[in-house]
Amino acid sequence: MNRVRCLVFNAALGPLDYRVPEGMTVEPGSVVVCPLGPRQIIGIVWDAERLPGDEVPANKLRPLLQVLPVPPLPAPLRRLIEWTADYYLASLASVARMALSSTGALRGSSTVTEYRLTDKEPGRLTPQRAKAIEALDGQQATIRELAAMASVSDAVLRGMVNAGLLEAVLVDSDRPYPAADPTHAAPDLSVEQAAVATQFVTAVHAHEFQPFLLDGVTGSGKTEVYFEAVAAAIEDGRQVLVLLPEIALTQTFLKRFEARFGVTPVTWHSSLKSSERRRAWRAVAAGHAQVVVGARSALFLPFAKLGLIVVDEAHEVSFKQDDGVRYNARDVAVMRARFESVPVVLASATPALESLQMAESGRYERVVLPARFGGATMPDIQVIDLRIEQPERGHWIAPPLVRALKERLEKGEQSLLFLNRRGYAPLTLCRTCGYRFQCPNCSAWLVEHRLSRRLACHHCGHEVPTPEACPECSEPDCLVACGPGVERIADEVAAILPEARVALVTSDTLTSPAKAAEFVERASAKAIDVIVGTQLVTKGYHFPELTFVGVIDADMGLEGGDLRAAERTYQQIAQVSGRAGRGEKPGEVLIQTRHPEAPVIEALASGDRDAFYAAETEARRDAGAPPFGRWAAIIVSSEDEAEARDAARGIGGTAPNLADVMILGPAPAPLSLLRGRYRYRLLINARRSTELQRVIREWLDPLRFPPGVRVAVDIDPYSF
Ligand code: ADP
Ligand code: ZN
Repeated sequence: MNRVRCLVFNAALGPLDYRVPEGMTVEPGSVVVCPLGPRQIIGIVWDAERLPGDEVPANKLRPLLQVLPVPPLPAPLRRLIEWTADYYLASLASVARMALSSTGALRGSSTVTEYRLTDKEPGRLTPQRAKAIEALDGQQATIRELAAMASVSDAVLRGMVNAGLLEAVLVDSDRPYPAADPTHAAPDLSVEQAAVATQFVTAVHAHEFQPFLLDGVTGSGKTEVYFEAVAAAIEDGRQVLVLLPEIALTQTFLKRFEARFGVTPVTWHSSLKSSERRRAWRAVAAGHAQVVVGARSALFLPFAKLGLIVVDEAHEVSFKQDDGVRYNARDVAVMRARFESVPVVLASATPALESLQMAESGRYERVVLPARFGGATMPDIQVIDLRIEQPERGHWIAPPLVRALKERLEKGEQSLLFLNRRGYAPLTLCRTCGYRFQCPNCSAWLVEHRLSRRLACHHCGHEVPTPEACPECSEPDCLVACGPGVERIADEVAAILPEARVALVTSDTLTSPAKAAEFVERASAKAIDVIVGTQLVTKGYHFPELTFVGVIDADMGLEGGDLRAAERTYQQIAQVSGRAGRGEKPGEVLIQTRHPEAPVIEALASGDRDAFYAAETEARRDAGAPPFGRWAAIIVSSEDEAEARDAARGIGGTAPNLADVMILGPAPAPLSLLRGRYRYRLLINARRSTELQRVIREWLDPLRFPPGVRVAVDIDPYSF
């Protein structure tokens, strides 16, 4: 081959053709350095027939400059990148960039230079250097990473290198990971577990595409069972990818994995250091990394010989990426398994309706673990009607929950209170003039965080110190907190049970893997009596002494008329209830609500999951919603409100008139102002059989917008 077509990470450029110079060998997937004008850019040699573009005359072709010494991207990964671009209406370049540019692996070299503090006596220090020394004690990372950790500039650190205060350490990215032992501590499976495990193991050995929906109640041993499939893949010399919805869950997972296989797996997520990232990427590409556990971005790693994919807590909303390339990692995982010809296991106690439907129609194999392991029973769930059982004025915990908490404390058992809202109070207002604190960048209230004494926007991160007085009327002591957040619930627990040890668990308190590990340690050692937490505590944790779960506000997620509101509420409350009574002692759950008659609350109380899914299925069918129909959203945004509105109207005005496609809007999006951009939205509802992507592409492609306008398409949006 002496002419190749390359994909570069710049959507504006399209594919570029080059000549392969004498003595250089490339193949599809090779990572190469391409000349572009006076610059050099990284490109990937692509299968020319799959990448249409203009033929450049042979005499105009410039030669490739270099092939990087990394393995070529395997064909199944190239197919996945193409599919993702096609399905989610993103450019190939943007998917390739998302998949690869953050890896840091494309720069070829196998070593990374990191820095750490030396023992040198620092003498008199500038305040910046003193700050850096304090922050960097025990750390080793690149200059840029250290600068971020210490909140100082690169220049400060470079100065410290010159002064001998920091020293360089060469890190070899190719040092091997220890090998997992598939027989290290294999458990004795129950009869039901063993039956499921055998199915998985057979599928792994068959090296064929086979999607499984592992539908098992909380505590049924789903992890133990899919570990058998992992062991089978390792025995076959194949690699495994395990996707988790949240980095916070990784710690618990690593511990369990280590107990089962004797080593910790390779991890992949956004907060890895660049040296760890490079090491992981290279080991995955070389086929040395046996098991990778990661966030959704791990889906685009260049596995050399993948044998199995597992998506744990597959129903989780966080598998949906909501900016950049808007993809659903659960669905992309199934596609990757298809391209790799390997089995994929979607594990959940509360599967998404779409996944159940796929099983119903025979496209996924549904395997069921109907009971908890070891004779543990499902918790007893009761509904507390807040209109009858009212909490004291200015309080949020109703008397039955207060009694349950007291009782558990006396017995030395643990309790968990769940409220999916960070901070102290969702709204702060002035009782004198009525002023409300609002985010300047978003259409949202500022949430009071009392621990950090700040008002914060949960959408854009805008923060201000909590003021003493109203900025409008300057009246002192006039600010009132309205409504509860977890911090407020924790205060209330402390007031009710002054002797209880209360742990607040939110993304504000579990800020690092070390903090998450410390929490798990303390809870397991019974050093915590009451856990108060957000959705972070709803899944994955296994605390045998936890016998009571209280849901503070079951109605919260039901407001707003979102398509998936009922399903999500059901999943969240079923998951958090699933934390109760996992050991020998039975669990009890009390759910506070103002709508005990809502179908989702009734289903939770009666434990009748099938009834809930049946009702929800009918509702979706009536609405033409997934899985029966298809939805897409077009979000038009600009810093200028009129510009956004006009662009959205322009799109609406050219909407195709098709019998099986319904277009709603444009209307202001639910968050009509987000991060300083005004947002308008059109919703598209189509029949299942409609080629929705083609319709949207043909509709939007000819349109042109002012430079300040962004148009984003969300295929299968999660919420709206
Ligand atoms: P799930 O993921 O379905 O909620 P887990 O895999 O976390 O369930 O299992 C619940 C608890 O039961 C865990 O502590 C797990 O170690 C234990 N367990 C499950 N199956 C077995 C088994 N076969 N042998 C020993 N312990 C088991
Ligand atoms: Zn904001």
